[in-house]
Amino acid sequence: MTNGLKRRTKLVHTGTRRSQYNEVSEAIFLTQGFVYDSAEQAEARFVKAGEDEFIYARYGNPTVRMFEDRMSDLLGYEDGFACASGMAAVNGALMALSKAGDRIVASRALFGSCLYVLEELLARFGVSITLVDGTDNAAWDAAITPHTSLVFLESISNPTLEVIDLRHVCAVAHKNGALVIVDDAMATPIYSYARECGADISVVSTTKHVDGQGRMLGGIICGTRDLIRGPIEAYVKHTGGAMNPFTAWSHLKSLETLDLRVKAQAATAMAVAEALEVHPKIADVRYPQLPSHAQHKVAMSQSPSGGTVLAFEVSGGRDACFKFLNMLEIFIISNNFADAKSIVTHPATTTHQRLPQEQKDILGITPGLVRLSCGLEDTDDLIADLMQALDRI
Ligand SMILES: *Cc1c(COP(=O)(O)O)cnc(C)c1O
Repeated sequence: MTNGLKRRTKLVHTGTRRSQYNEVSEAIFLTQGFVYDSAEQAEARFVKAGEDEFIYARYGNPTVRMFEDRMSDLLGYEDGFACASGMAAVNGALMALSKAGDRIVASRALFGSCLYVLEELLARFGVSITLVDGTDNAAWDAAITPHTSLVFLESISNPTLEVIDLRHVCAVAHKNGALVIVDDAMATPIYSYARECGADISVVSTTKHVDGQGRMLGGIICGTRDLIRGPIEAYVKHTGGAMNPFTAWSHLKSLETLDLRVKAQAATAMAVAEALEVHPKIADVRYPQLPSHAQHKVAMSQSPSGGTVLAFEVSGGRDACFKFLNMLEIFIISNNFADAKSIVTHPATTTHQRLPQEQKDILGITPGLVRLSCGLEDTDDLIADLMQALDRI
């Protein structure tokens, strides 16, 4: 019904199924199980469940299925499996597609929990992991070989906003017979370009822009129908990582406004980046849409926007930085991003505290580094708040 329509229309309608009551708003099916008309029907469903035939909520649920359809359509994939969190999605994709002896090549600048799954879990089961500088195409060329099974990367890294040349990495991976899994949180689902650039699977923490209002943990794995309804579904449904129907329902409502929200937040992020770039107490503003960004050209060839998050260095190190954070009146100090409320984070002492110093140095996580997530407040108010805090350090 929604083929050929534009994104905002599809974000309101795709995947909707109505019950016999013809409700307007998507129904929430808070049910673990489903009743069969007969023993024969139960048997048939366990042999093979057809479309919109459900068995148990860990395997699938009508509200969750609506969300999977709407979200995978948004990202340009055939299908998706919704998960309890972003990490359930990352873990599900990596574990479902790996076996002892496999070799995974990944970018070094990864979310801490993703590094744990790769270096602690998968390594324990005999999968070898090679980490490379994601911005260095030659490093990918050297690391990916015909023995590589998977390539895993964050398209835009957190917290330092390094941008990977995804078309290049996908081409090298595919030439060597490897699948590419992209962790797509920072790119935002609206500006996601993973599928377009050749990724085989996207894993998304829907905790971020999809919820966008600081309520729900969620995630989704999107890919071809063969991968999603094959090894991915088998792994997630048997190991218990499925999404709660209440989360799926809340996410469906959030998707209706996603395009409007992300575009407003991204416009604010660009305005904030420009204001901070010329401020004497700020150094090294990192936002892909700024011409000064190290991978600006590649970033703009992949996406029209730099996203909703930026990072920058407060001159004067940790003390000046903490003073600045404490003086902010609208921005809240927290560790999530993509919320309606604007958030500042000090990665070195919070999200990335446990990284050894040499890793922090390699990744550029300095004592003065701030990650800033733009919310839905008025742009002028946010810039004024940043300026008054900077004046007072
Ligand atoms: C937040 C995040 C995750 C984990 O998502 P959760 O929903 O918190 O489990 C994974 N990868 C990236 C890049 C993230 O930003």
